[in-house]
Amino acid sequence: MASSFSRILSSKRKIQILSLVGGSVTAGYLLHRDHVSAGGVPVRRSYPASAEYPDLRKHNNCMASHLTPAIYAKLCDKATPNGYTLDQAIQTGVDNPGHPFIKTVGMVAGDEESYEVFADLLNPVIKERHNGYDPCTMKHPTDLDSSKIHSGNFDPNYVLSSRVRTGRSIRGLSLPPACTRAERREVERVVVEALAGLKDDLAGRYFSLTQMTDEEQQQLIDDHFLFDKPVSPLLTCAGMARDWPDARGIWHNNDKTFLIWINEEDHTRVISMEKGGNMKRVFERFCKGLKEVERLIQERGWEFMWSEKLGYILTCPSNLGTGLRAGVHVKLPRLSKDPRLNTILNNLRLQKRGTGGVDTAAVGGVFDISNLDRLGLSEVQLVQTVVDGVNYLIECEKRLEKGQDIKVPPPLKYFK
Ligand code: ADP
Ligand code: MG
Repeated sequence: MASSFSRILSSKRKIQILSLVGGSVTAGYLLHRDHVSAGGVPVRRSYPASAEYPDLRKHNNCMASHLTPAIYAKLCDKATPNGYTLDQAIQTGVDNPGHPFIKTVGMVAGDEESYEVFADLLNPVIKERHNGYDPCTMKHPTDLDSSKIHSGNFDPNYVLSSRVRTGRSIRGLSLPPACTRAERREVERVVVEALAGLKDDLAGRYFSLTQMTDEEQQQLIDDHFLFDKPVSPLLTCAGMARDWPDARGIWHNNDKTFLIWINEEDHTRVISMEKGGNMKRVFERFCKGLKEVERLIQERGWEFMWSEKLGYILTCPSNLGTGLRAGVHVKLPRLSKDPRLNTILNNLRLQKRGTGGVDTAAVGGVFDISNLDRLGLSEVQLVQTVVDGVNYLIECEKRLEKGQDIKVPPPLKYFK
């Protein structure tokens, strides 16, 4: 990857951050950032790498599958210009050996540069998590032309709600596992000021977590609009719950069909959702809103973290590329009891979650079914994969209702 350090902080942003955080030590440090190579800055250690190596014998996350004593020894004494270390990046995977429903990634990025400084570990992790996508040789496509989607209106007897979300990070500010309080508040300020420019059906307002009552917050969570409280150890062990709820909140339009989460797992999560099965309309609003948000952010002199090889840069390597999760809450009471369901989902490149979010189990045969992939395929390709896959699952459910047999479809082949 061509070094992105030189483009991380434009002079304008440097001045904004410096004026925000103040102090000559910080100023000197930040001004040095442009001159650091992708090799990272050295970290002083008292003990050899072998004495610090984590015990991963009971682990099954991607990080644990790819970390070796040799890679650890090479990377453990390097930090990003922001001071983020390999030990910080892998801590969540060390503390959480596995997850009951999905193979987790087991590491996070503290800033944009983490993906370069720790590439020797992150690249194989990315390759495993993203179905063989090779960041050393491949380029990520972007396509936000929603008119290309076909058959995107599901049977509402089965699909209860449709949703498309992504994340976007503000270049020059550390990501949630590593940001300071001032940086986190700066993300909130920059994004909320930009969102005030949204017009017409996208117009809305910001609701800060620090200013809403517990009841208001719980209602937004119960209605599936707001992120859960950060109880998941995957989040807390990554440092993402620090200072909660400072500088966190949700912006939404008046209809609550276009929503932006601020400073949860990513700087921003951009969401389009509505009840029923009109995924095409949800994706149309998503594309329109997202382009508008990017324009408003750029108008203020900021930009999103992005690279040719990794697409949009987000906190969790599992979300790189499009960051897109297009999903439905769908009723599949019969298919969910069929032992072939997991193979069918995997072959269709789909993932299932409980309807309360990633850490919940399914209730009453209703699942959150969404795309498994994020990177190497465009937004249009991923949404179409979900549309085709969910239509197939609904067909299976209808066949089972009639006592007919179902077939396991052949695995979808992408770039593997
Ligand atoms: P994300 O990938 O956006 O982080 P989570 O699994 O953490 O998703 O869920 C976040 C919230 O979004 C939860 O309240 C969940 O119920 C809600 N959600 C996810 N998909 C849908 C959907 N298709 N319809 C309605 N709500 C949804
Ligand atoms: Mg989540």
